[in-house]
Amino acid sequence: MANIRFKALEVTLSRKRKILDLPKEKVSTYFGELTFNRSAMQEFLTREAYQKLIDVIEKSETIERKIADQIAAGMKSWAMSKGATHYTHWFHPLTGATAEKHDAFIIPVEGGQAIENFQGGELIQQEPDASSFPSGGIRNTFEARGYTAWDPTSYAFIMERTLCIPTIFVSYTGEALDYKTPLLKSLSALDKYATEVARLFDKNVNKVYATLGWEQEYFLVDAALYKARPDLSLTGRTVFGHASAKDQQLSDHYFGTIHERVLDYMAELEYEAHRLGIPVKTRHNEVAPNQFELAPVFEETNISVDHNQLIMHLMEKIARKHDFQVLLHEKPYKGVNGSGKHNNWSIATDTGINLLSPGKTTASNFRFLTFMVNILKGVERYSDVLRAHIASAGNDHRLGAHEAPPAIISVFIGSQLSATLDEIEKQTKKGRMNANGFNLNINIPKIPEILLDNTDRNRTSPFAFTGNKFEFRAVGSSANCANPMIALNAIISDQLKVFKHDVDTLLQKNLRKDEAIFQVIKRYITESKNIRFEGNNYGDDWMAEAKKRGLANITSTPPALKILLKKETIKLFEDLEILSERELRARYEIQLENYTKKIQIESRVMGDLAKNHIIPIAIRYQNTLIENVKGLKDVLDSKTFVKLSRNQMQTIKEISEHVEEIKDKVAAMLEERKKANAIADLEKQAADYNQYVFPYMESIRYHVDKLELMVDDELWPLPKYREMLFNK
Ligand code: ADP
Ligand code: MG
Repeated sequence: MANIRFKALEVTLSRKRKILDLPKEKVSTYFGELTFNRSAMQEFLTREAYQKLIDVIEKSETIERKIADQIAAGMKSWAMSKGATHYTHWFHPLTGATAEKHDAFIIPVEGGQAIENFQGGELIQQEPDASSFPSGGIRNTFEARGYTAWDPTSYAFIMERTLCIPTIFVSYTGEALDYKTPLLKSLSALDKYATEVARLFDKNVNKVYATLGWEQEYFLVDAALYKARPDLSLTGRTVFGHASAKDQQLSDHYFGTIHERVLDYMAELEYEAHRLGIPVKTRHNEVAPNQFELAPVFEETNISVDHNQLIMHLMEKIARKHDFQVLLHEKPYKGVNGSGKHNNWSIATDTGINLLSPGKTTASNFRFLTFMVNILKGVERYSDVLRAHIASAGNDHRLGAHEAPPAIISVFIGSQLSATLDEIEKQTKKGRMNANGFNLNINIPKIPEILLDNTDRNRTSPFAFTGNKFEFRAVGSSANCANPMIALNAIISDQLKVFKHDVDTLLQKNLRKDEAIFQVIKRYITESKNIRFEGNNYGDDWMAEAKKRGLANITSTPPALKILLKKETIKLFEDLEILSERELRARYEIQLENYTKKIQIESRVMGDLAKNHIIPIAIRYQNTLIENVKGLKDVLDSKTFVKLSRNQMQTIKEISEHVEEIKDKVAAMLEERKKANAIADLEKQAADYNQYVFPYMESIRYHVDKLELMVDDELWPLPKYREMLFNK
């Protein structure tokens, strides 16, 4: 049989451009056409039902059964008008993917006929047979009952002729089994405490919401090459592969011209995203070859998270149509930049103010500084909680690999804002006060211009202020954005709650409001200094400096997850009623188990590939060398033979050395795996996989990658880096 790699290459090289038949209309004509958005609601609901639904969305009112039936009927008619035949509750279980179980609208009626039916009860709540979703022991299988419940704030949508209803997923006993439930709770905590603080400045504020704009990085690889790499197909990353002679050194891919096959893919992806109401806006090549980025306009966080989950699904689906495979893994290729998902986050009021946007007046700057300093203080207090919420086996390859922010959490705010905070810190009471209330002169005349300076940026910081929002850059590309957002919202909620309390305490001592706020933020500036870092986060100097400052540098998932069980973490989430201790423990266990399974699978795939793909080929090639040397010996005189067979002999020896090393190490890794598998305690098991199994993968890889350089290219069975990274 011909070498599978060459067969795949042949397919790849013969690809033709797909002729696209996308509509030529303006995007605005079809934007959101597959969502039950306000205009669809207006068209398909009675006035009463429409108004009630708006109140539910805007004021979190509850819905009566009668109205629910009306809404369900309207939704059904709308969905059927778009060709839908089924409906499903769509949710985010802790597997990281999204889940759906489709039910048909039809029910049989007398006379061998059927009618389409969809009741309020089916819209509001369902009981999927959910016993095989991870629950971390919360939901024992004998009471395998979990409920999904409608989230009316996120529009229902149609995919594959199915009406998808965004829902939360909770156990029979009410515990969250998903990401959306705690996300919604964290958003409501943030609303509560941020509104209280915002009202110190403006009594008209009644609601504060968090905004999220994600930037999704990903790789594309030709489907045929992907299928010829069992490691990519089974684990999402290449466990072997020598670096290509050229990859990203010349930085010629970043923002380069997009290849037409890729552009066709992007165009169709954007078309489908727009029909689903996802406001995707930017697309460009990323740093690594065949790496790209997609970003929407920001939205309210719950919606934005749903849209990110949806787009990851669309990306994979549409890629297959274009004979590509999307790689969402954080590190598909060694030695080449990995992929992240920057989470741009801000907070805004119902009065239309972005609280992280410095205003033009002293009062608005004061408000801006208050929120800014609270965020610094919040991250300083709970940086480890943020770290825990970006931990995953995939992200371990990225954090700290001199391409992505390190595992050390710090905050970048820019030199001018830093200078402003330093100045405030130094200010004495004298010379600062101004008699009339909020027209307090805190000597910060420069802020507005400064912050609009877009060049004052640091792309190495895990958490960077970028003018009117924070960019959380350490999130992994395959992560559900909800997880880091839950953590961030919780941290800032708690901090704002403490802040309000600190201010109230001073007010009771008869301080004026502005003076009280000023004193508290001044103290926070000093207390949170440790977390601020403006330099190069990729550098070794920073490792040393961070260590001196006592900042944690947790480079792998198991210890990062352990933070979820800290007394302070549990208190944080319990006090804000976002997650109970039981729910946190469940999350801890699910993620640990997930980590262990991922390493276990990678390690097995590696062992199999090494033994069945690599070693036999290496030996086959070695045999041809041996034949050749034997032949030379026959035809040459012994002196010439010794002289001319030197390199061949050396290669023969080296191949054997690598093969021996690989065999020994694969066997030793198997032993470690067996030992780890026998451990009942999840925490100890994950730690064993991390400490004893994982390191073998690097050392086995070293030898296989060396063999790749020695063995005849015609024999090598796995598509090479240069082939996967440069073909389109
Ligand atoms: P980059 O980091 O690549 O330079 P930008 O600075 O253009 O990109 O950031 C773009 C992202 O920031 C977009 O996803 C955008 O929606 C998001 N963004 C902009 N303003 C806000 C905001 N107020 N809240 C949340 N996200 C925002
Ligand atoms: Mg960015």
